[in-house]
Amino acid sequence: MARTMDNLYIGGSWVATSSKFADLNPADGSLWAEVADGDVQMARRAIDSAQSAFRQWAGLSYSERAHYMLKVADEFERRRDDLVQALQGEGGGWFGKGMFEAGYVPEVFRAAAAMNYNAIGEVMPSEHHKISMAMRRPMGVVTVISPWNFPTLLTARGLAFPIAAGNCVVLKPSEETPYTGGLIFAEIFEAAGVPAGVLNVVSCSRDNVSAVGDELIENPLIKGISFTGSTPVGRIIAAKAGAHLKKCCVELGGKDALIICEDADMERATSAANFGSFMHQGQICMSVEKILVQEQIYDDFLQAFVARAAKLKVGDPLADNGNVIGPLINDKQAGKVKEQIEDALAKGAKAVLGGKVEGRFVEPTILTGVTPDMKIYAEETFGPVVPVIPFREDSEAIAIANDSEYGLSSGVITRNEARGLAIAGALETGMCHINCSSVNDEPHVPFGGSKSSGVGRHGGRWSTETFTETRWVTLERGGRKYPPVF
Ligand code: NAD
Repeated sequence: MARTMDNLYIGGSWVATSSKFADLNPADGSLWAEVADGDVQMARRAIDSAQSAFRQWAGLSYSERAHYMLKVADEFERRRDDLVQALQGEGGGWFGKGMFEAGYVPEVFRAAAAMNYNAIGEVMPSEHHKISMAMRRPMGVVTVISPWNFPTLLTARGLAFPIAAGNCVVLKPSEETPYTGGLIFAEIFEAAGVPAGVLNVVSCSRDNVSAVGDELIENPLIKGISFTGSTPVGRIIAAKAGAHLKKCCVELGGKDALIICEDADMERATSAANFGSFMHQGQICMSVEKILVQEQIYDDFLQAFVARAAKLKVGDPLADNGNVIGPLINDKQAGKVKEQIEDALAKGAKAVLGGKVEGRFVEPTILTGVTPDMKIYAEETFGPVVPVIPFREDSEAIAIANDSEYGLSSGVITRNEARGLAIAGALETGMCHINCSSVNDEPHVPFGGSKSSGVGRHGGRWSTETFTETRWVTLERGGRKYPPVF
């Protein structure tokens, strides 16, 4: 039976909305939940509640805020099985993906708690022998807007560090995952006893997102914005934030390359390619979207990669935990992936594995013969489809990898570490992983992209730097003389 979630979480209370929207299970299109549809008035109320809670929250000692974050982590751990089920039902993810995400999220809150024990500034030398300090302090109310693909992980990444640092947050989850990316945080913060108003959750439908989104950027009480999502929406958010001179960190799309050199360990290469391309049906911002293989090993690699990927089972993840490839999130996404496959095949590419799209289910698909005139060469796919392209010299692989508007992550497989580091140095990406796929994350690392993949970094101290204000404060002790004329 569908769940009913007809309340937003504002100022520590559950607030009913006049309308709800449908939250569907992407595997079968059934109604998974009916969810509160927030509007601009509700967003304003949430911002006011966050502002009211701010002074007191920021005024707690660093250790008290850290302890709350640890309670949130424990509560997430206690709710692990519910969360995994919800990630499968609401998001269409494989059981193993749910277990990974549910295990990762508590660590984000623990890393945020640990951040509170770090220095909050520096003491600088002064010509005048002043005590001259760079000091960091929380900003106030921060908006967090998150996507649907790793909804709990990416929401946690967006809000844990700003909140631990003393900010209060208004969270707007994706309309595709309003529970696992939104309302579950409200339940957990409430259960953990986090003071009212520190976290507010305003879910809303696609129809209301633009107006609610504008309020969450333009309202004068909003001081910072954490956005994770697509490049087109990220551009709009960053432009509006810029117009209002708000600090904004946008984590956007990608078209990541995995470069496989002729000296690669073949087992490592095929497993990195398989995981990187097909984990969560390719719906990861840093999914491998181009595999570049040195020509000497191209045929051997392709054969072994196809054999490996052919074993991945497609189907409803809730029906069988062995169904690794679940549905794409919605019809629009499935349509886009189908169009990219058809365009590539029509222009001469060959599907050496898969190629079939049935409703929202897409078979793991490996394409050869992909050329720059095909949509799949340049556009983000966000589905289980990957081209394998041969290269001769490292410089050619680097040029193909960099031939993209995006620059999120990348991977290089080689037994020669110096060669790996040289290639990593030439790639125009925010992240690069040698002897691993492009898909990597840890709570405390600087996560983010170059070019159209984003501006700013989330994770650990980089999140804390983004969502705090650095101030210069001096203490004069008689060393600063003014010109006598004054
Ligand atoms: P999306 O841009 O459609 O939506 C992201 C969020 O923005 C959602 O909460 C959505 O409701 C909200 N939104 C949409 N229009 C808005 C508006 N006008 N104002 C304010 N908010 C608005 O992206 P998506 O489909 O949810 O996620 C998939 C995309 O996210 C992919 O492109 C993927 O690469 C990217 N992504 C990036 C990262 C990263 O860390 N770089 C991580 C995950 C996903």
